[in-house]
Amino acid sequence: MSVARVALSGEARAYLQCVLAARDGRRCFYCRRNFRARPGRRKTLDHYIPHRIWPGWAVDNLVLACESCNLAKADALPLPLAWLLLATFRRENWELTA
Ligand SMILES: [Zn+2]
Repeated sequence: MSVARVALSGEARAYLQCVLAARDGRRCFYCRRNFRARPGRRKTLDHYIPHRIWPGWAVDNLVLACESCNLAKADALPLPLAWLLLATFRRENWELTA
């Protein structure tokens, strides 16, 4: 199943960037580099949990990321989330009971 990505207006994008900057600071969520120090560095809205799993534009699932971090992460699950899933994995839940 594919979920169509709802396009965001420039205004809505700017508003979300302001909200996220107020919450997390004006820096990339992943590399922590400051956007203010480098005005040329493009900041992007990144879905922390990939859009195909959690579609939409909920602020709870959005972080500010520089373009290179956003491209590097692509559609992958964030590493801390993958660790959490592995930590809660129970082998017995996946074995058939006879
Ligand atoms: Zn970055």
